[in-house]
Amino acid sequence: MIEQDVVIVGAGHGGAQVAVALRQAGFGGSVMLVGDEPDLPYERPALSKEYLAGDKGFERLLIRPQRFWEERDITMRLGERVVAVEPDAHRVVTDTGAAIGYRHLVWATGGTPRRLSCEGSDLTGIHTVRSRADVDRMMAELSRVDQAVVIGGGYIGLEAAAVLAKLGKRVVLLEALDRVLARVAGEALSRFYEDEHRAHGVDVRLGVAVGHIIGSDGQVTGVHLVDGEVVAAQMVIVGIGIIPSVAALTEAGAAGSNGVLVDAQGRTSLSDVFAVGDCALHANAFADGAAIRLESVQNANDQAVAVARTIVGQPAEYKAVPWFWSNQYDLKLQTVGLSGGHDTAIVRGTPANRSFSVIYLKNGRVVALDCVNAVKDYVQGRKLVEAAAMIDPVRLADSGTPLKEMV
Ligand code: FAD
Repeated sequence: MIEQDVVIVGAGHGGAQVAVALRQAGFGGSVMLVGDEPDLPYERPALSKEYLAGDKGFERLLIRPQRFWEERDITMRLGERVVAVEPDAHRVVTDTGAAIGYRHLVWATGGTPRRLSCEGSDLTGIHTVRSRADVDRMMAELSRVDQAVVIGGGYIGLEAAAVLAKLGKRVVLLEALDRVLARVAGEALSRFYEDEHRAHGVDVRLGVAVGHIIGSDGQVTGVHLVDGEVVAAQMVIVGIGIIPSVAALTEAGAAGSNGVLVDAQGRTSLSDVFAVGDCALHANAFADGAAIRLESVQNANDQAVAVARTIVGQPAEYKAVPWFWSNQYDLKLQTVGLSGGHDTAIVRGTPANRSFSVIYLKNGRVVALDCVNAVKDYVQGRKLVEAAAMIDPVRLADSGTPLKEMV
């Protein structure tokens, strides 16, 4: 059996950062990353943005070049999937039958895209956007696509719609709720993005339900809505969230549902087993201590650093302020904090000028900002979120006064 000091399962953002942070913290033991994708760790956000657009090649997505991992003696086992965890024996088993013993195990497996379950959902031409392979498959089909349907008006669906529209495709975006980004942003931001997409030719449909997918010769030809309308499409992109990849860990006894439960240091309920990133259900200070999963690079990286420090015996706690970004057309959205549960939303600046912010308050305190082409607000507003500042809404709305003067 192979023996390692630290085995990291999942070679994505969180897994890679755990390995990097271990070495940065002076950890001299053996470190192995086991990842089921064939590639070195790469940056996923570009997949629905510059990579899909053809503006950035894969080499530029690598989190670190091959040399980096070699120089730090970080072993990669790629294209191999961990299928079982044996917590008492302190080992994992992979789909090649290999058993790998660990002193510490870090689970950093992200999630798998939620798929449609309706009739026709297995037709060729239906895509999800999670991995390089997903997007490569999509890109290989694009030349045959005149019209695409995007199902789901979250960030990934909107970003994919923006890229396809820029590539000259006709795009119909179907959202089941009455606004896009409903799960993550306030109404003002949703309406702004709906208008922007429509202005770029995207047919944004709200409050629509997909009945089934239709096809011919195994290839998708359209989406049948429950109201009977058929929307023609040679490509369907499904962006309806992820299911955290934690089955092997929870089957081994780790606590959690919809993710694996971790404490402030990233420890699961299994001894010497940690989890980070999209799959880690944690009490987040910026969500009033509620147990949530965050799907962001910030969360994966910061949790990874806390776990690495804990492993090397340095005191660490994950309590970083959440932040996120999304690029659509020439709009750079930057968010800080978590707006869920806000009771007041203040628009600062003028959306029509395509540079503005939405500031979210809860019980009079600033909990989050969504900043569109407003980098200064984002940078300065972060302090307001960190401090849970109480500021007169009229001042916050005054875009003539920099936020830093209000801290
Ligand atoms: P991942 O990066 O998904 O890595 C998990 C890895 O583990 C994967 O390679 C997976 O295949 C592998 N794996 C799973 N199970 C096993 C197993 N049993 N054995 C071995 N390997 C396994 N975040 C932002 O902050 N800003 C953005 O703009 C943004 N845009 C995004 C756009 C897209 C298209 C996507 C998909 C995500 C985006 N995100 C963005 C989210 C961000 O990429 C994720 O939050 C981040 O990748 C999470 O890191 P992770 O390590 O938890 O998971």
